[in-house]
Amino acid sequence: MEAVDLSQVAVHTITTKPWPIETAIERYARAGFGGITVWRDALEGRELPAVRRQITDAGLQTVALVRGGFFCHRNEEERAKGHADNLRAIEEAAGIDAPMVVLVCGAHPAQTLAVSRAQIREGIERLLPEAERLNVQLAIEPLHPMYADDRSAINDLATATDMANQIGSPLVGVAVDVYHLWWDPNLEREIARCGKDGRLFAFHVCDWRTPTRHMLLDRGLMGEGCIPIREIRGWVEKAGFKGLHEVEIFSEERWKGDQDAWLAAIADASLKHV
Ligand code: ZN
Repeated sequence: MEAVDLSQVAVHTITTKPWPIETAIERYARAGFGGITVWRDALEGRELPAVRRQITDAGLQTVALVRGGFFCHRNEEERAKGHADNLRAIEEAAGIDAPMVVLVCGAHPAQTLAVSRAQIREGIERLLPEAERLNVQLAIEPLHPMYADDRSAINDLATATDMANQIGSPLVGVAVDVYHLWWDPNLEREIARCGKDGRLFAFHVCDWRTPTRHMLLDRGLMGEGCIPIREIRGWVEKAGFKGLHEVEIFSEERWKGDQDAWLAAIADASLKHV
């Protein structure tokens, strides 16, 4: 399989967390990356049209806004608060011309996964009128089962694709992140089904470190771990995915270092391992 071109690769702003978004846009473009995925914290205190303009002027494609979701709730007040925040996420996405909001769906250890999943489906359905009005896609991101207690009750690709199909809107699909899904013995088959059903909206890459020293903030650079990233990219492309490959790495260790050197390492690893 051929290596990717950097123009086919986007970087999540969280990957270079110490940089303000203005620096991230400038450096990603200068390094030759094709796109950017914007985390909401990077937009704090910014005018959305100004961010949108800077991204466009730099020649980058905005792939997605991260993130909405957290649909699980213990009472009506929590539900309403979460819904209002998700409406804002959709508006922010539209404001920077991001075609999609990625959803980390939520879970709560005091309730069953089945109850959480019902709340997730209902929460997504409630967002559909606003998503349709602003033409913003909603991508369910299944998370690794280690997060099933309090981050997401959607933990494999089959569950995510089924839910998107049950909701039945062309605006609802799935974000495939190798970090969360690489362990699944049915992954190749499920990626094919997700693509066939028109639900394969996004593809996120990083690697799995051994040992993983922190459940959230110790992701590896592509090639540093045990995930067969290029093989999975092949499955995703075979399933018809034509979008950018998004590098999304939370790493306390890397955030402490020089971010220009880190971005250069990401470019190199993208060419060698994606
Ligand atoms: Zn992801």
